[in-house]
Amino acid sequence: MDNTPAQQHGPGRPAGSGTRLDSYVDRYAARTAGMTASEIRALFAVASRPEVVSLAGGMPNISGLPLDVVGSAIGDLIATSGPVALQYGSGQGDPALREQICEVMRLEGIEAHPDDVVVTVGSQQAVDLVTRIFCDPGDVVLCEAPSYVGALGVFKSFQCDVVHVEMDADGLVPEALEQAITSVRASGRTIKFLYTIPNFHNPAGVTLTPERRPRILEICRRHDILVLEDNPYGLLGFEAEPQRALRADEAEGVIYLGSFSKTFSPGMRVGWALAPHAVREKLVLAQESATLCPPSFSQMAVSAYLSTHDWQGQIKQMREMYRERRDAMMEALRDFMPATCAWNEPEGGFFVWVTLPPGVDAKAMLPRAVTARVAYVPGTAFFADGFGSGSMRLSFCYPTPERIREGVRRLAGVLEEEMEL
Ligand code: PMP
Repeated sequence: MDNTPAQQHGPGRPAGSGTRLDSYVDRYAARTAGMTASEIRALFAVASRPEVVSLAGGMPNISGLPLDVVGSAIGDLIATSGPVALQYGSGQGDPALREQICEVMRLEGIEAHPDDVVVTVGSQQAVDLVTRIFCDPGDVVLCEAPSYVGALGVFKSFQCDVVHVEMDADGLVPEALEQAITSVRASGRTIKFLYTIPNFHNPAGVTLTPERRPRILEICRRHDILVLEDNPYGLLGFEAEPQRALRADEAEGVIYLGSFSKTFSPGMRVGWALAPHAVREKLVLAQESATLCPPSFSQMAVSAYLSTHDWQGQIKQMREMYRERRDAMMEALRDFMPATCAWNEPEGGFFVWVTLPPGVDAKAMLPRAVTARVAYVPGTAFFADGFGSGSMRLSFCYPTPERIREGVRRLAGVLEEEMEL
């Protein structure tokens, strides 16, 4: 085992990841080079100190969940179906739950058959499985600029090349998508899919407008590009009815991902993929090799919750709660932030994207912010290519409205000082 410090560069040496301390470094597969701790994970330790207002993490706020209802549904589940719930299950997922998932997706205009649904360990695992079955090293995945840090991590771990495509206040920009496809293909590379978060984007907070949806689909259809539609926040809109999913208007060219993490419980780790028939079969094989089957107990607990509780009423309450926090965030930003900052007003979800005054580097400023007892995620976490230093993601999902206001006040103070430096 080689313990040699930094000068040697074995194929598996993860760049800049403290390799001196890792005596296994020369044994790792090359793909581990892309596996670096996310900036968010590194922040968790400091941000969870009680004196720090964390506008960093994106933890769903489950304080309103009726624990008595969940508890009795789980008690009944064990009493009536314990031997099934505690046993291995199907690699594709529980049939009853897959039917309920189709009902959930109907709220976004999707007509699907339970046979085409694969249950996964959160939608995070669905991103992993889709990438696993489609991507070879060097394949291109198109992503919004910025994009979800957890998906970027998956793409890196499969050695994909992420190409970011511009987005604006109306979501992904169709002309930019067209241009990206043309230029990637001109460079001789293969595009495997477009990964997109059309609703209440993490981290950008924006939503793809109804006008742009058919245009994005038309471009992908014309260029024969598969769409991976990741939609964990779709039912958490503050103002209007849920948007029509991309998948609702294109069954063959879209793989749709959903999750119960934001609308029920992230601890259950239940998500899903809805895929064209042939892809679904490959996903089940990949699921079986990764986990044998998704957890029976969690799936049946989610299923029991959906069938015994007014889950849509519960989601309505969650939307109110998140809306109140969004409003607190918007008011605080208006009241405290320097005039040279810019941000959008999210219509749902958990996040707002803030563009900082010219010359301010969000990553360099973070230690000073933490000293001032406020945390955020620097924009660079959401780009595969080092961009984003002049921006940050603020989340409003978890702290109370009062804490949000205090956090933004502290952040604005740090920014003012930073601008004087
Ligand atoms: N996609 C997006 C855009 C997310 O924000 C998240 C959670 N932060 C996930 C996928 C994964 O969620 P889960 O695995 O809990 O379903």
